[in-house]
Amino acid sequence: MKNNNLLFAILIGALGGIFCGWFFGTAMMSIAWVGTFFLNALKMLIVPLIIAAVITSITAIGDVRHLGKLGGLTVLYYLSTTAVAVLIGLIAVNIIKPGVGTQELSQTIPDAIVGKDATGIADIVQTLITPSLVESAAKLELLPIIVFCILFGIALTTIGERGTTISNFFEGLNDVMMKLVIWLMYLAPIGIFSLIAAKLGESGGGDAVWGEIKKVGWYMFTVIFALGLHFLFLLGVLKVLGGRGIDYLLSMLRALVTAFGTASSSATLPLTMECAIEAGVKKRAAKFILPLGATVNMDGTALYEAVAVMFIAQAYGFDMTFTQQTIIFITATLAAIGAAAIPQAGLVTMALVLTAVNLPLEGVGLILAVDWFLDRIRTTINVWGDSVGTAVIQNYALEDDID
Ligand code: ASP
Repeated sequence: MKNNNLLFAILIGALGGIFCGWFFGTAMMSIAWVGTFFLNALKMLIVPLIIAAVITSITAIGDVRHLGKLGGLTVLYYLSTTAVAVLIGLIAVNIIKPGVGTQELSQTIPDAIVGKDATGIADIVQTLITPSLVESAAKLELLPIIVFCILFGIALTTIGERGTTISNFFEGLNDVMMKLVIWLMYLAPIGIFSLIAAKLGESGGGDAVWGEIKKVGWYMFTVIFALGLHFLFLLGVLKVLGGRGIDYLLSMLRALVTAFGTASSSATLPLTMECAIEAGVKKRAAKFILPLGATVNMDGTALYEAVAVMFIAQAYGFDMTFTQQTIIFITATLAAIGAAAIPQAGLVTMALVLTAVNLPLEGVGLILAVDWFLDRIRTTINVWGDSVGTAVIQNYALEDDID
């Protein structure tokens, strides 16, 4: 099957999933296992793929000064686009004011975030390292693995001839993993179909979901509208700084629909890498920038956290001053960096933002019912942010034409 056919099949799978989940409701839960199978197959590839990709990208870059430039530009790009995302969210929520007049205030702190208010900057820094690589791999905590692989790769470049066998091994491993990703892609249409259909089914089907949507319709509109604006902003960045346009978006669509289907940037990562490399991004850029982006660059999550927190403030009748909104701006950015690339992680790290401006954690109860849906849209924007980042950063950090 050619990739265009595959993309078509994936899109049909996603739309079919929405249709069947909406109309057949809970009956669709019987096929949930198919989605889980696909998701687990993706997850099975992540750790070996990241290890091989990051190490080989570092050895390909070779010179530590080039690596420093690449790392520096990546961090700068990720931070600034995330900041723009939060800003767009804050402006939208201040204009639309979706929370004003909300009636059903919650009384209890949702289980998902009980005890999570203590998360702080120190906790985020701690996620860079791990006492056990094996345990982190088992839990799919990718950031410490990436940090280890960067250091490993740098060390490898310093030992000369003796490192050749190891480098060759990881080159081979990387090629094998990419081959497996290509094979797995053929499962994506059916996998995405069942992930979406079963999730809608679990939520009670179309009528039940529509009932929930109506309760917080303006809030959802604000999040989706602002995410749409950020999507367009990134498209502009892609055009101006990356020299690419709609062709790149189309090439990334398979990954974007998978992000919508899985609600996880890390589970989508194998496809994001495959699509980006196929779209012509330099391999060593994609292999370094995308894994890092999947774990720390979450524009969609940051934007959503800012809107959600402001919505909760408006619902409870608290006026957020300029200073408080500045605190939301900073903490939403940090909370998104600290969020794991798994479903609904943003909901959990939102506790950090709420606590910083003294808002009740109970407020999360207001947005809980529709969060799974917004999660899918923000994850799609997260992956789009990483994809655009790769196309842009490679132009400035890696001047030569070597792949
Ligand atoms: N699910 C998101 C991701 O994986 C994180 C979040 O916002 O909950 O990118």
